[in-house]
Amino acid sequence: MALSGIQIYKLLPQTNCKDCGFPTCLAFAMKLAAKQVELAACPHVSESSKTQLAESSAPPIRLVSLKSDGYEVKAGNEVVLFRHDKTFYNRPGLFVEISDNLSEAEILATGKAVDGYTANYVGIDLKVDGFAVRSAVGDAGKFAAAVKAIRQASKKPLILVCTDAAVTSAGLAVLNGESPLIHTANGQNWEAMTALARQNKASLVVSADNLDDLSDLTEKIKAAGVEDLVLSPASPALGQALTQSTLIRRLAIKKNFRPLGYPAIAFPKSAAAAAQAIVKYAGFIVIEHFAPEIVYPLLVLRQNIYTDPQKPIQVQPGLYEINSPKPEDPVLVTTNFSITYFSVANEVEGSGLPAWLLVTDAEGMSVLTAWAAGKFDAERIAKAVKAFNVADKVSRKRVVLPGHVAVLSGELESELPDWEIRVGPREAVDIPAFMKQAL
Ligand code: SF4
Repeated sequence: MALSGIQIYKLLPQTNCKDCGFPTCLAFAMKLAAKQVELAACPHVSESSKTQLAESSAPPIRLVSLKSDGYEVKAGNEVVLFRHDKTFYNRPGLFVEISDNLSEAEILATGKAVDGYTANYVGIDLKVDGFAVRSAVGDAGKFAAAVKAIRQASKKPLILVCTDAAVTSAGLAVLNGESPLIHTANGQNWEAMTALARQNKASLVVSADNLDDLSDLTEKIKAAGVEDLVLSPASPALGQALTQSTLIRRLAIKKNFRPLGYPAIAFPKSAAAAAQAIVKYAGFIVIEHFAPEIVYPLLVLRQNIYTDPQKPIQVQPGLYEINSPKPEDPVLVTTNFSITYFSVANEVEGSGLPAWLLVTDAEGMSVLTAWAAGKFDAERIAKAVKAFNVADKVSRKRVVLPGHVAVLSGELESELPDWEIRVGPREAVDIPAFMKQAL
């Protein structure tokens, strides 16, 4: 049962020493109750208090981590129902299913295609996280061979999909030293699957037809020594899946209901179901086939949902070279909001015209927003011109301001008296024409 802020405060040293970064123990207790800080931030808690607080301070959804050679996929540790309340932390792992009915050549081909797939989105490389190897006929030899084949193609984490403990064991034997996810323990096989997960330090998916049975089963498995669990509620239609996953998340976060305080896995049968699983609230998602036209929008959706809404995606401030500029080429100015940066950079790059792009630190805001917030003004632009030694790179001292902030040109002339200040177009799409006609 979660403790209130006052109950937590009574267990703290109450010295107000500030070592945790908060002015008082009470302020720290309130943050701990809201699950916005870790208990470890206070170095002075007694051992007996730690035990009492551990349960209360544990995240409402357990962190489950799959590891393989050089890769890790984490799910859980979420503390809010809605992204706008705070943020979502661990993006759901996207896995591609591989059936052991496929030939070795087919597994290798799919494995390599998935492993090498990268989609660049606003400067971020998005990738598929791993594979779910499914035992189609319950044959231990075939299953182990399929796991071995996928390991030749990729080192990314695996989910082993099989309800037979002996067959699953054959697959696990290939994965020495890894922490895979076993799918699945149910009302019939849970004892054997739990033993297997314990012996192999694997995480375990638990499935049941309804939430009551699911929570009973997680409690039994936890008591038997496996705590890294993943929930697999029955796979009903889209609407029921939404209700069920929302109920699980709500019970875990709002009611601190520990038996359902685990990430969930989804096996969507359509792109719409996969999108729903990203948004509400899967920790692992297994898609049936690899198709870039399906995977790309899912990865982009995931990236957007799991970006902290309070922290815009930013690029590093600096002087960027586009199309190998020479000293006489123009210097364009913009902000470090990544969508703004890529809008400008892509237009200039696509035009084939060389330019220097001076990206100023505007705390990740777009041009107009940053200007309105006082984060993109003549002083900051002049500071960036000096900090990135722009004068050493160009032979003609000339900067082009975005048209939306034409109002800054007078002030910038005062800040940079020996520079020519030009005002460019308002929209990035008009930059190439402006460069050809006016520069
Ligand atoms: S570090 Fe611990 S004892 Fe010190 S103010 Fe924070 S909560 Fe209180």
